Amino acid sequence: MSTTLGFDTLAVHAGAEPDPATGARQVPIYQTTAYVFRDADHAAKLFNLQEVGYIYSRLTNPTVSALANRVAALEGGAGAVCCSSGHAAQLMALFPLMQPGCNVVASSRLYGGTIQQFANTIRKFGWSAKFVDTDDLLAVEHAIDENTRAVFCETIANPGGYVTDLDALARIADQAGIPLIVDNTTATPYLCRPIEHGATLVVHSATKYLTGNGTVTGGVVVDSGKFDWSKNDKFPSLSQPEPAYHGLNFHGALGAMAFTFHSIAVGLRDLGMTMNPQGAHYTLMGIETLSLRMQRHVENAMTVAQYLEQDPRVEAVTYAGLKSSPYNHRALSMLPKGAGALFTVSVKGGYDACVKLVDSLKLFSHVANLGDTRSLIIHPASTTHRQLDEAAQIKAGAAPNVVRLSIGIEDVRDIIADLDQALTAATA
Ligand SMILES: *Cc1c(COP(=O)(O)O)cnc(C)c1O
Repeated sequence: MSTTLGFDTLAVHAGAEPDPATGARQVPIYQTTAYVFRDADHAAKLFNLQEVGYIYSRLTNPTVSALANRVAALEGGAGAVCCSSGHAAQLMALFPLMQPGCNVVASSRLYGGTIQQFANTIRKFGWSAKFVDTDDLLAVEHAIDENTRAVFCETIANPGGYVTDLDALARIADQAGIPLIVDNTTATPYLCRPIEHGATLVVHSATKYLTGNGTVTGGVVVDSGKFDWSKNDKFPSLSQPEPAYHGLNFHGALGAMAFTFHSIAVGLRDLGMTMNPQGAHYTLMGIETLSLRMQRHVENAMTVAQYLEQDPRVEAVTYAGLKSSPYNHRALSMLPKGAGALFTVSVKGGYDACVKLVDSLKLFSHVANLGDTRSLIIHPASTTHRQLDEAAQIKAGAAPNVVRLSIGIEDVRDIIADLDQALTAATA
């Protein structure tokens, strides 16, 4: 499909031709594990990556491929790979780049689960992360050493209403000869397309706004196709004969699709973090209305943030869409359609008031999720960020007196009325 089509057209059509077998207009759920080879020669060509087709659904599946192609089109990438969750997508993004002894320089303001994954779990692979304040560009430069293989950040950092200067980080990564990886979950390609700001890889938790209604656990990695993996010797899995795939030189053989094919032929084959076809179908449905939903999400978020900011029961609101935010200027240039629908509120009365607020809300759901059509709330210090010590909580924008709101697409008057009655109960 032509990439000159507009974003809203791609959101409905990209990756999804009418089904060649039946003419079905909607993308069918190909609930099959295997695909019959035409003959032995066809099978050999598929296994040699000389012909693109389907072998086994741990690797590729037509429903899942439609989603990968749609997200790649929306992000302006060359290719994409779908995964079983956002966390799987993060590992899959790092997998072709890393070796034992290598590190990733990561923003200290990441989703709490990502900080855990990077600080502890990836060490079991011999990888490590160095966390830095990505507003301190000198610190980012100094953190990069000869074993660094990527810089990792989020467009809008969850939970703190922080907007990352993607262009500045991309320049630093580029000078070091390594890719910038951006988690674009909370912005979605509707609000920001990180590849246009110099990112090489974009990762998503499809669990959030892409599906949009809290029905799926999934993830996607999009590759810009623009990074020259052969320009230095840092990425042998892509630029040199790959022993895990009968010595194929992925970059030499597949050019701009090297990362995508490696992720499927080696990453999904051996790590198995595959998205299921039903999940892919739901996410395709969700993406059809991505623009409409995001418009309402950001409009409601702005109205609710403005209401809370002037409320005497509230200490502070960290929404980059507000003029009072130190990131408002950056949001206006990087996120001109809106600064997302996720922000934190510091409530007078500290930890206890936050817990009471959460328990007093009726319309809001108290859940460890975001990016749902429904308005959601969580108290990070007692849930998602409870494994961090208080200093790390504060650094991550999740101090004990902070609640995180994910504003839904309901009538904004009803959202505000619910917050009003719960704040009264919490601060009584
Ligand atoms: C939820 C989330 C993740 C993890 O995604 P899962 O689908 O839950 O594995 C990663 N990054 C961000 C910003 C998220 O919000």
